Parts: sequence; C-alpha cells; structure tokens
Amino acid sequence: MAEAGDGNLALVKHVVLVLSGKGGVGKSTITTELALAFKHAGKKVGILDVDLCGPSIPRMLCVGRPDVHQCDSGWVPVYTDAQKSLALMSIGFLMEDPDEAVIWRGPKKTAMIAQLVSDVAWGELDVLLVDTPPGTSDEHLAVLENLRKHRVDGAVLVTTPQAVSTGDVRREITFCKKTGVRILGIVENMSGFVCPHCTECTNIFSKGGGEELAKLTGSVFLGSVPLDPLLSASVEEGRDFAESFPNSATFSSIS
Ligand code: ADP
Repeated sequence: MAEAGDGNLALVKHVVLVLSGKGGVGKSTITTELALAFKHAGKKVGILDVDLCGPSIPRMLCVGRPDVHQCDSGWVPVYTDAQKSLALMSIGFLMEDPDEAVIWRGPKKTAMIAQLVSDVAWGELDVLLVDTPPGTSDEHLAVLENLRKHRVDGAVLVTTPQAVSTGDVRREITFCKKTGVRILGIVENMSGFVCPHCTECTNIFSKGGGEELAKLTGSVFLGSVPLDPLLSASVEEGRDFAESFPNSATFSSIS
C-alpha cells in the first residue's frame, strides 16, 4: 500500500473525541446521534469507532459487519448512505470475533488503534467524531499520539447524572487538561425518563449535575438528553432517530 497515513486526515476539517468516564452512559449513542445531526445539517461526517470494549456503532447505524476494502491510501470507510455523507470505520470491522479485542494485550491494542487512526482513507470531511473506549487508558493516549499531528479540535464529554456524582467524569476532565485536549463541552445523558405513553419527562436521578460540573470546571454545558425508550429502540434497531421521530423533544435536545 502506498502513502497510507498522515495524508488521510488532510481533508478532514475538524476532529472531535467523544469521551466518557465509564461504559454504559451512552457515549456511542451520543456519537451516533451527533453524526446524524451533522448529516441532517448537510455536513460530511465520519465516525472512527475505536471502542475496543464494545464497538457498537455499526449496529447503531445498521451496517452490520461489512467487508472492508483497501485502496492505495488505506482502508475505505463504510458509507451509510448513497450520498456518502456519513462514513464509518470501526475496529469491529477488522476483528473476526467481536469479543476478540477484550483479550488483547496493551501493545496489540495500541498498534491497532495507531493503524486505525492513520490508515483510513476518509477523503473530505467536515467533522470526524472519534468514539473512544470508556475511562482513561493507554488506548486514549494511543489515539491522541496518533492524532496529534493532525490537531484534535477538542473533546465532548458524555456523562449521566449519577456518573457526575461518582467523579468518573472528573477524571476525564483531568485527563483532558493533562494531555492538552480542549473540552468542547459536557453532555448529560439519561437525564430524566420520557414516558412512552404521555411523553412527560420524570427526573429519576438527580438532574443538573452535568451543568453544575461544567460550571465548576469552566467547561461549556452542551445540554441534556433524556432517557427515551424511542431513542433506545432506534439505536438498537439501527434506525435513524431523527428521521423516525423528527418532532420528538429528545431529537431537538440532540440537534
Ligand atoms: P456507551 O457507549 O457509553 O457504553 P451506549 O451508547 O452503548 O453506551 O448506550 C448503552 C445503552 O443505553 C444502549 O442500549 C443505548 O441504547 C441506551 N441509551 C443510551 N442513551 C440513551 C437515551 N438517552 N435514552 C434511551 N436509551 C439510551
């Protein structure tokens, strides 16, 4: 293969990491919905899914496990639409068994991440969202080391109201500060529950923690997304939530 590497991000205008302090807070869901919101706004967007703990974005975008092809400059991303406005490359595409990465040792994980970051032929993109594993680990450093050359615009931190109080997200903030990654903002996910019958939103857990944390750390609060069964069903079935429920309050909170 000729010239794979640095050139692959040359036409990518913005690179944004999506981080969370722990798994299950909806990081991949928010990454997917952000990408769809960019797409609906007429932007060209890419998702690089390096979440070795559970590469779930292919399922959320209903692309399954396609064969990934190579061109002269690297792997060709999988396009989710005919207009090629949403491109995806997932570590899940490259593994024979999706559970395989869990038993990989650190160097193998970091080598795979280095390759994924530099060897995807993205072409022209307005924004590339990088879905990272939860927490702060060698994998995050590998992502940063390999992206550094191309500038990372910043990180979006996803948390739940409970995670805010456990401090997981604070460690994420410290990680960003120490590695010099600008925090673009904090999203509070699963913030209240939207009743599927009457659409009323009930705050099961505390609310407002994300906003408070943003104030405390001098970060921007980007907004809260409620726990919505329709959103959950959409991502589980790989449907476009915005297209299925364009009038939903949850969709407005994302876009
Ligand atoms: P993470 O990437 O942080 O591990 P996921 O995005 O995979 O988390 O989400 C975990 C589960 O929670 C998924 O089943 C997803 O459908 C669900 N989920 C995430 N956010 C919401 C939400 N706002 N409303 C309903 N379900 C959600």
